[in-house]
Amino acid sequence: MSTTPARAYGTNAPANPLAPMAIVRREPGPKDIELEILYCGVCHSDLHQARNEWRNTMYPCVPGHEIVGRVTRVGAEVTKLRPGAIGAVGCMVDSCRTCDCCKSGLEQYCSSWATFTYNSADKHLGGPTLGGYSSHIVVDEAFVLRVPEGMDLAATAPLLCAGITTYSPLRHWKAGPGKKVGIVGLGGLGHMGVKIARAMGAHVVLLTSSPSKVADGLRLGAHEVVVSTDKAAMARHANSLDFVLDCVSAQHDINAYIGLVRLDGTLCLVGVPEHPLSVAAFSVIIPRRNFAGSGIGGIAETQEMLEFCAKHGIVSDIELIPVQKINEAYERMLRQDVRYRFVIDMKSLGA
Ligand code: NAP
Ligand code: ZN
Ligand code: ZN
Repeated sequence: MSTTPARAYGTNAPANPLAPMAIVRREPGPKDIELEILYCGVCHSDLHQARNEWRNTMYPCVPGHEIVGRVTRVGAEVTKLRPGAIGAVGCMVDSCRTCDCCKSGLEQYCSSWATFTYNSADKHLGGPTLGGYSSHIVVDEAFVLRVPEGMDLAATAPLLCAGITTYSPLRHWKAGPGKKVGIVGLGGLGHMGVKIARAMGAHVVLLTSSPSKVADGLRLGAHEVVVSTDKAAMARHANSLDFVLDCVSAQHDINAYIGLVRLDGTLCLVGVPEHPLSVAAFSVIIPRRNFAGSGIGGIAETQEMLEFCAKHGIVSDIELIPVQKINEAYERMLRQDVRYRFVIDMKSLGA
């Protein structure tokens, strides 16, 4: 298969920092769109996988699945976007398209596993798929999103993962007027969860482990902010929330948050800490509660989320960085020193 060279930042081993890397992309096929990547958000999943914290990383690893770019070339059969248009790519670049999940727009749960944007088997070139910390990418048009007119492109990039990962469960569990929704962890996902749940009309309670984020939580749209180390404040919210979205990236006491859920309410995990969490049986038994999980969102729902965010004036709060600062950004993300998403300005890769 013919290829074109591309520039990237990636790593060959869990303990190595990310460094410049030469990669190749396939020549666009009839249904493919080639994007020059303008911006790529930095998700905590990038760090987990670059460092093999989920024990499934294939190397070389080029992370990045919050991609906004400009269309440079399209295949002959492409109808979605023309050269010069803005397109976006999230966490998936393909799936089987024939199983029940794929047919109902839940490609992320494809029974043969979706092809994720990085760290999946590349059906075209062999080896692992390589993500958005790169100069360009070639993706089947079915997995490319349209960016609504007028959106700030850098601040839109994080919607492609952090936005959809919070939008999808909030929709599924019907966040809206009359519902009390808790968001745990004010990071990349959590701050999108706060904004989106608020825009859906829910009463939003942010649970943060960082007292320094209380004012931001309120500014971003939470009606109430609870510092999770404040036992009295946590106790005041016991059994009161219809739905809790846990966006925490590290080990934590999940039972403290399940205890906030009311009878027949749900705590949904989207955070993926390195090690298993332990759920005490009585946390879910009394009163009867649901403990659930959710993965990103399907392609149609991702497009719907982008339209919803455009309509409500929602983008991510970002700090734009050159790609050369990516290793420092990872360390700062681990220290919770990001307000609230790093986005790489891909121009910094240079020619
Ligand atoms: P992030 O920006 O680093 O945010 C994580 C937040 O978790 C922090 O800001 C912090 O919020 C909280 N936190 C961290 N350590 C904590 C601790 N020890 N105890 C309590 N709270 C703690 O990460 P992210 O990019 O939002 O990603 C969050 C998680 O979701 C990651 O594990 C990521 O892999 C996962 N993820 C899952 C999906 C999915 O499809 N399910 C998609 C994308 C990402 P406070 O300071 O407010 O406490
Ligand atoms: Zn992500
Ligand atoms: Zn499928």
